[in-house]
Amino acid sequence: MSEVDYNLENWEKCTCNTCPVQENSECVKDKRAKVSKLMPKINENKTMPNPDMIPDLYCATGKAPCKDIDTKEMCQCNKCPLWKEYDLPYGEPLGYFCSDGAAK
Ligand code: SF4
Ligand code: SF4
Repeated sequence: MSEVDYNLENWEKCTCNTCPVQENSECVKDKRAKVSKLMPKINENKTMPNPDMIPDLYCATGKAPCKDIDTKEMCQCNKCPLWKEYDLPYGEPLGYFCSDGAAK
């Protein structure tokens, strides 16, 4: 597998926003609210925000800055298009990139 690119195209494909691991995190909700206000500018400039600002794409960026996520819930990475595109089942860790770090 190759390293996952931190870019807008991959961010759009990421399914972390449907994941129960993050569903009840106040920290994640706060980040989503803040970044949604920035979306017009992000789309206009075609530049990714700082990784700390988005609760997504952890396979590229590594562990989540939010500490109130619940890793007893089921990771959704195997439903994500990037799972196959980047051969993530053949790398480590196996999903749960938000708690276990970026894909290698
Ligand atoms: S593999 Fe997981 S962390 Fe990576 S983009 Fe997809 S859902 Fe997000
Ligand atoms: S990396 Fe996996 S466990 Fe973590 S938020 Fe994304 S889909 Fe959920």
